Amino acid sequence: MTKETLSNLLKENRRFDPPPELAAHANVTADAYAEASADRLAFWERAAERLQWDEPWTQVLDWSNPPFAKWFVGGKLNVAVNCVDRHVEAGRGDKVAFHWEGEPGDQRTITYADLKDEVCRAANALTELGVNKGDRVAIYMPMIPETVVAMLACARLGAPHMVVFGGFSSDALSTRIQDCDAHFVITSDGGYRRGNASALKPAVDEALKSCPDVRNVLVVRRTGQDVDWTEGRDVWWHDVVDQQSAEHTAEAHDAEHPLYVMYTSGTTAKPKGILHTTGGYLTGVSWTHYEVFDIKPETDIFWTAADIGWVTGHSYIVYGPLANGATSVMYEGTPDTPDRGRWWEIVNKYKVTILYCAPTVIRMFMKWGEDIPAKYDLSSLRLLGSVGEPINPEAYVWYREFIGGGRCPVVDTWWQTETGSIMISPLPGVTAGKPGAAMKALPGVVADVVDDQGQSVPDGGGGFLVLREPWPSMLRTIWGDDERYIKTYWSKFDGLYFAGDGAKKDSDGDLWLLGRVDDVMLVSGHNISTTEVESALVSNPKVAEAAVVGASDPTTGQAIVAFVILRGDGAEGGDELVSELRQHVAKALGPIARPRQVMVVPELPKTRSGKIMRRLLQDVAEHRSLGDVTTLTDSTVMDLISEKLPTAKSED
Ligand code: ATP
Ligand code: MG
Repeated sequence: MTKETLSNLLKENRRFDPPPELAAHANVTADAYAEASADRLAFWERAAERLQWDEPWTQVLDWSNPPFAKWFVGGKLNVAVNCVDRHVEAGRGDKVAFHWEGEPGDQRTITYADLKDEVCRAANALTELGVNKGDRVAIYMPMIPETVVAMLACARLGAPHMVVFGGFSSDALSTRIQDCDAHFVITSDGGYRRGNASALKPAVDEALKSCPDVRNVLVVRRTGQDVDWTEGRDVWWHDVVDQQSAEHTAEAHDAEHPLYVMYTSGTTAKPKGILHTTGGYLTGVSWTHYEVFDIKPETDIFWTAADIGWVTGHSYIVYGPLANGATSVMYEGTPDTPDRGRWWEIVNKYKVTILYCAPTVIRMFMKWGEDIPAKYDLSSLRLLGSVGEPINPEAYVWYREFIGGGRCPVVDTWWQTETGSIMISPLPGVTAGKPGAAMKALPGVVADVVDDQGQSVPDGGGGFLVLREPWPSMLRTIWGDDERYIKTYWSKFDGLYFAGDGAKKDSDGDLWLLGRVDDVMLVSGHNISTTEVESALVSNPKVAEAAVVGASDPTTGQAIVAFVILRGDGAEGGDELVSELRQHVAKALGPIARPRQVMVVPELPKTRSGKIMRRLLQDVAEHRSLGDVTTLTDSTVMDLISEKLPTAKSED
C-alpha cells in the first residue's frame, strides 16, 4: 500500500441483532469489554483460572524481552489432564467427547472416559518407543479419533506434536519433519476421501527417504490397505498401544513448555513453523471457545468442520472443546460424499447446535443451491461461525438464511495460526452482526488499524491490521528462527504485531477484514481491496464465488481483473453477463472499481486449506507463466482457466 490508506468502498446497511434468548443466557456479556480494558492482565488471569493448574503462576506476563512473551510464569499444568482427566474425575466420564463419523458411514462414539483410557495407553506406548519430553512427533493422519488421541498423548508427555495435513505431499511432509527435526511419525495406512480409500503410508515412506533421523513410524490401521513395511522402524498402533495399561501418571509441564509446532497454510510464502506453548495457548482456546461460541457443554453439540491438520482443527476440534468438556462432531470425509447433502444429514443426525466452517465451503454450498439444505431439518442449529478468509456479505446472508434458518447469529472470526485463538469476532449475545464484518477485537485483545506510519486511522479509514498488546495464545517464535519471527511480525511497526492483513474501520468503528495487504490493488492512484470487489461480484445473484487481482495496465497502473464462478451447475457466461457484472461492480462500489475484465471460470485455484491463491491468477492476467503451484489442491484448475483466456472480455 502507498501512503494513502485503503479505499473504503463497500456499503453495507444490514444488521442483525443478537437473538434475545441467546442474549439473556449468554456466557459472556458486554461487561467483559469494560473488565478487560480496566485490567487486561487480571482479565486473562481469570480466564486461566478456568483451567486446572498443578502449580500457580507467580507472574501473569513477562514482556521484559519483547517480542518474546512468557505467560503465567512459574505455573505448571498438563494439557491432556485439563482436556480429559479432570472431566472424568469430576464424574463426567460418560459424557460424549466425540461423535465421530467416517466417510463410508461407520461411526464411533467416544466418551471422556474412553478418551482418557486411549490417551493413557498411547502415552505409555510412546514412552516405550523412546519418546521423551521435548521430542517432536510428526502426525500425518486422516480425520480419525486416533489423531486426537495421538495429539493428546504427545501433550501429556510434553513431546510437541507437529501435525501435517493428510492431503499434503511427501515433499511437504519431509521438509516439515526436517525443519522441526522430528524423530517419530504417527500415521495410518490411509483414510477415506471421496468414496475411496486413499493411501497415506506410501507418502511417509517416500518422505522418510530424506529424513534419516526418524526412528519409528507408528501406523494406525484404518482402511486395511496393503502397506510396505520397514522392519525395526514401523510398528502397528494396535500392536503397541492396545496392550498398554490405561493408567498413566501425567507430569505437570511448565506453562511455557512447547505444546506444538504448526506450519502456516502457505498462502503467501514458505510456511512458517509456528510455536505454541502450554498455559497461554490452552487459556486462549478454552476461553474463546466459551465466549465466542457461547458453549453450553451440557446441551450443545459443537461441530468444527475443518481438518485437524489446520490450526482451526487444533484449537476448535481438539483443545478448546475438550478443555471445556464439550461434545463435538468429527467427520472424516468431504461434503459431497456420498452426495451433496452429507453435512446436513450429519447436522440432523447428531442434532448439531453450533457449526463452524470456512467461507470457501459456504460459497460452494451457494453454488450447489439452497434446495439441498432445504431437504433437511436443520432446526437444531443455534449459532454459526466462519473462519479462514473474509466472508463476502452475500455468503454471510446466505449462510444465515439457508443454513441458520434466519434465526442463528453468524460469528465471523478473524485469527491466524500465529494468534492461536480467535482475536476478532462478534460476541453472539452482545454484538449485532453486520454481514462481512468481524466487528470487534475480543475482550483482552487490543487490535487497531493503522496507516503506513503506524498511526491509528480514524473511523471510516482503512489500512494495516495490527495487535497492540501481547495475548496468551500468541505464537512464541518461528521454530528455530527467532530472527524470522521478529522480521515477519514485529518489524513493520515499532512495538506492534503486524498480521499481514488489511482492514478498515466503518463509521461505527467496527472492523472489516480486507484480505492480505499484498493483494491490495493500486488503480489510478487508489488502493482498492480485492475483497471488496469480490464481495460486490458475489452480491450479484448469478455469482457464487469471485477472485480479483490487479494486472499491470499502461494507463491505470493496475487494472482489475475478475474471475467468477456462477451459481448453479453448468451455468455459462457470455458477453452480456460479463458487461452486466462490470456494471454491477461499478454501481456497487463506484466506477473506479469497475473490472477491466471479467472471466467466467469453472473453478478457482485454492490452497489445500481452501484459500484463493490470487498470485497464480495474477500470472494468468498478466500473461506470465505460472509460479509455484505445489500448494494447490488441484493443479488442473489452472489449465481450465488458461483455456478460457481467449474468450476473456476487455471493454473500455
Ligand atoms: P501463510 O501465512 O503461510 O501465507 P495463511 O496466512 O493462509 O498462510 P493461516 O494462518 O491458516 O495461514 O491463515 C490466517 C489468515 O487467514 C489470516 O491472516 C487472514 O488473511 C485469513 N483469515 C482468517 N480468518 C479470517 C476472517 N474471518 N476474515 C478475513 N480473513 C481471515
Ligand atoms: Mg499468514
